[in-house]
Amino acid sequence: MKHAEAPIPTPRGVLFDFDGTLAPNLDLMDMRRQLVVMAEQTDIPRAVYQDLYIVEMIEAGSRWLGAHRSERQAQDYAQASQQRIIDIELAAAAETTLFPFVRTLLSRLNGESIRLGIVTRNCRAAIHRMFPDHEDYVQALHARDDVAHLKPDPRHLEVNLQALDVDPKEAVMVGDGILDMQAGLALQMHCVGVLSGSNDTEALVAAGAHKVLPDASQLADLF
Ligand SMILES: [Mg+2]
Repeated sequence: MKHAEAPIPTPRGVLFDFDGTLAPNLDLMDMRRQLVVMAEQTDIPRAVYQDLYIVEMIEAGSRWLGAHRSERQAQDYAQASQQRIIDIELAAAAETTLFPFVRTLLSRLNGESIRLGIVTRNCRAAIHRMFPDHEDYVQALHARDDVAHLKPDPRHLEVNLQALDVDPKEAVMVGDGILDMQAGLALQMHCVGVLSGSNDTEALVAAGAHKVLPDASQLADLF
C-alpha cells in the first residue's frame, strides 16, 4: 500500500494514546464482561449496547432505562457502571508501570522541540497513578474526565492539539487502537500504529495507519 510507505515529515506535535502505547493495556475484555453483567442485571436489552465501546455502552443503557423504566434507574445504573470502570482502572493502574522506554523517548522528542500530548479514554486519576511525573514530559493531557467527546470522535484529539497550539496536519497520532487511527485520520494527522497493545498490523493499516511499529520506542527514528 503506497500510503503506508510515505515518509513522515518532522512533526511539531505528537499525540500519544496511553494504554497499550505508553503502558501495558488494560484488560478491556474483562472490563466489558463485568459491564455486560451489570447491564443484564438491569434488564437492558443486549441490542442496545452490544456494538458500542464501554463508555458509550453505559450512555446507551442509561438512555434506554430513562425511556423505558425510570429516570432514577437510569441514573443509578449510570453511576454504578461508571464507578465500576473507575475501580477497575485504578486497580489496574496500581499494578502497572510505563513501558521502560517512555521517559527516554519523550525527553528526546522534547529535545527536538516537538510538543507532546496524551489523549486517553482512561480516567485522569489512573494516568496520574501510572505516570505521576507526566507534566515533566508532556504539555497536555486529556483523559476521559477532561473532555465531552471521546475518541474515535476527533474532537478529543482536537482539544489536545489546541492546548499544544499545533496544527493537526503537522502532528502525529500514535496508538495501538483502531479508534486512535480513525480519529487521527479524520484530522489528516500522520498516524503511527504500535503493536504493543491490542491490534495487529493488518487491523491498524486498515484503520488508517501510515506506519506500524513494534512499539513506540522507535518513533523518534521515523522523523
Ligand atoms: Mg490504547
